[in-house]
Amino acid sequence: MSSFDVVIIGSGPGGYVSAIRCSQLGFKTAIIEKYSTLGGTCLNVGCIPSKALLASSHHYEELQHFADHGIEVSGDVKVNLEKMISRKQAVVDQTSGGVKFLMDKNKITVFEGLGSFIDATHITIAKSDETSETIEAKYIIIATGSKPSSLPFIKIDKERIITSTEALKLKEVPKHLVIIGGGVIGIELGQVYLRLGAHVSVVEFMDRIIPGMDSSLSKELTKVLKKQGMKFYVSHKVKSVERKGQAVIVQAENLKGETITLEGDYSLVSVGRRPYTEGLNADKAGVKLNDRGMVEVNDHLQTNISNIYAIGDVVRGAMLAHKAEEEGAMVAEILSGQKPHINYNLIPGVVYTWPEVAAVGQTEEQLKADGIAFKAGSFPFKALGRARAGGDLDGFVKILADAKTDEVLGVHMIGARCADLIAEAVTAMEFKASAEDISRISHAHPTFAEAIKEAALAATDNRALHV
Ligand code: FAD
Repeated sequence: MSSFDVVIIGSGPGGYVSAIRCSQLGFKTAIIEKYSTLGGTCLNVGCIPSKALLASSHHYEELQHFADHGIEVSGDVKVNLEKMISRKQAVVDQTSGGVKFLMDKNKITVFEGLGSFIDATHITIAKSDETSETIEAKYIIIATGSKPSSLPFIKIDKERIITSTEALKLKEVPKHLVIIGGGVIGIELGQVYLRLGAHVSVVEFMDRIIPGMDSSLSKELTKVLKKQGMKFYVSHKVKSVERKGQAVIVQAENLKGETITLEGDYSLVSVGRRPYTEGLNADKAGVKLNDRGMVEVNDHLQTNISNIYAIGDVVRGAMLAHKAEEEGAMVAEILSGQKPHINYNLIPGVVYTWPEVAAVGQTEEQLKADGIAFKAGSFPFKALGRARAGGDLDGFVKILADAKTDEVLGVHMIGARCADLIAEAVTAMEFKASAEDISRISHAHPTFAEAIKEAALAATDNRALHV
């Protein structure tokens, strides 16, 4: 029987990063993945393919602005969805191949098959050729991730009533895509198909889209997407989703009890994700799951069984690839005797629409609920030279700072390149910067990043220079 220091179950961003770090730290490491490709949800049916389609559809949408820039395009411009989807798949295949390369480079043994606990130190791997193999490990890290969840009365048929996984490989552009759930995944994929010519309606139970983020971001994103043609039905509870031939009928009820009926040809159910532990036989190792199916862990990501840890989407916290990666590295370092730490308050959240939305730290709503006195400074992108030069005028940066100490407590932004700009805010907050600290740092001109400096000036003493 093969024996390892560390065995990781699941090769998503949590699992494969943990495997690399374990190997760097001198552990004899193995990783088990039930699919034939490595990289988990993120690389195969999540972050990477969705960003590939967002990029392709963005190029198409930008054509509409070419004339403003003095570029005349003659002849037909058409979308070839099949090609777009196959390009996306090529990006996924290359990226997944890159993970395989990293496993080999770091001398990590890769097992393909479903990993199930026999007990707290033994795992059996059921392979696709129907054989199985048992391996032994001193430490085991559960990194089995998550799957799309649904509502009990919705039957996902994967043809017309679909999840994000199917939405990444449609064979035609929907005529009318009805999206159930206005969270990050629904809105990103909604914008892809909106740009490609679909009518897109979003039904959201809460009173706003991207409800976890600062309400000012929801408001601005709603405004921009409405301008682009997306329709919103917020504060609407979906009551039924029925397939009728090639049509999908969605019925939802508003707060007054009035029912709306939307008829689409596809309905994307994006109401969140649930932790995935099917087939893992966690109970055989004695590992406790909570009532929502998550693996229970302490602050060191250790389960109730001392040699078994869990990371990523299968444990509490934001279901984000970079959060999973941080946890993967952290467990490896704990096992080697180090004392790493993750500041969960500073895990940034990003929506990769255009304009991009990004945030870190506390929202205004959270600060108010916690009774923390704060100052807010905002700066609109339209006042920046760089934004005007490129024509990306939507959005703003908002900085929230402690009213007494001036420490930055939250940064919320929507606009061009915010997915990258947020890194400055995360760095500043990791070093406990004050708004004044940021306002005194030189930012290259002309850049979108100047909006961060200006918002910091606005938060300090209402000193923004360019408004
Ligand atoms: P996963 O990536 O889910 O990987 C778990 C792996 O474990 C899977 O490969 C699974 O097959 C394997 N596995 C499960 N059980 C077993 C078993 N018993 N034996 C063997 N293998 C097993 N996050 C971001 O940060 N940025 C984004 O832009 C982003 N976009 C997204 C877009 C979409 C459409 C979706 C669906 C998700 C997106 N996410 C994004 C979320 C991100 O994909 C997840 O947070 C991330 O993949 C979680 O990583 P993980 O390692 O915990 O699990």
